[in-house]
Amino acid sequence: MRRRTALLAGLALAAPGRAAAPAVLEVGGSRLVLVFDDTLAPGLRAAVPDWLAAAAQAVAGYFGRFPVPAAEIAVVAADGPGVRHGRTRPGPPPRLQLALAPDTDPAWLRDDWIAVHEMVHLAVPRLAIAHNWLHEGIATYVEGVARARAGLTAPRRLWIELAQQLPQGQPRPGDGGLDDSPTWARTYWGGTLFCLLADVRLRERGAAGGLQQALQGLLAAGGSYAVAWDIRRVLATADAAVGQTTLGELYAQMKDTPVRIDLDALWARLGVDGTRLREDAPLAALRRAITAADAPR
Ligand SMILES: [Zn+2]
Repeated sequence: MRRRTALLAGLALAAPGRAAAPAVLEVGGSRLVLVFDDTLAPGLRAAVPDWLAAAAQAVAGYFGRFPVPAAEIAVVAADGPGVRHGRTRPGPPPRLQLALAPDTDPAWLRDDWIAVHEMVHLAVPRLAIAHNWLHEGIATYVEGVARARAGLTAPRRLWIELAQQLPQGQPRPGDGGLDDSPTWARTYWGGTLFCLLADVRLRERGAAGGLQQALQGLLAAGGSYAVAWDIRRVLATADAAVGQTTLGELYAQMKDTPVRIDLDALWARLGVDGTRLREDAPLAALRRAITAADAPR
């Protein structure tokens, strides 16, 4: 299940003075300070820097650089197996909190998506609550794409998962547009569906880098989590980076109207057929371009 969950009460950020000395990761010129909960098993604590470095490299690969020059990442203990949840706060510096079981098997960290998801939030301006679907949609969509581009997950796995999950993002009876339907499904998967539609349409209209190129332009224009922007400014800035109005048009269509997308037709065009990828589909090359490997950074 993909969702941002409020942390349990009492899991405040660990201050460096109360926990072990923080570790520092340098990723693409950005400085990430790691602060550990001192209840984490030593073997797990030793594995955390590599886990977060791989996540940060995947995010830097997608955006061209890590989204903010400095951030603090608090790794805190939580009940239950594996990485449980994360959240992002604006700071400064921006703070990510990632909660995992103190006895998590370090081998599980390679399959984690939460760290990348939270880091992607850092590349998008803070938005009004009605537009949370765009923040979560970008974080959810780009997480999978960035991990595929970085080799942390297989493209086929990404597409199978999107095909399985995206129907949840369709409007249900009584739903309004994306701005008016603050349910979990519409926020996370409706937002992800918006991003996939945008990525495909941007590329079909000639932006070779699609949504990645648009979001890199947004970041280059100062649009990171360090600032709070109106959604129209976010979308217009991203559109301007590729010389289009695609994102603004999609928003106008979907913001206050429940638009049902013909997903079967979309998957047929992209060549996503159940658990198989078809290379003879009309947009197979476009689909491959979305997950093509980023140059190492
Ligand atoms: Zn999120």
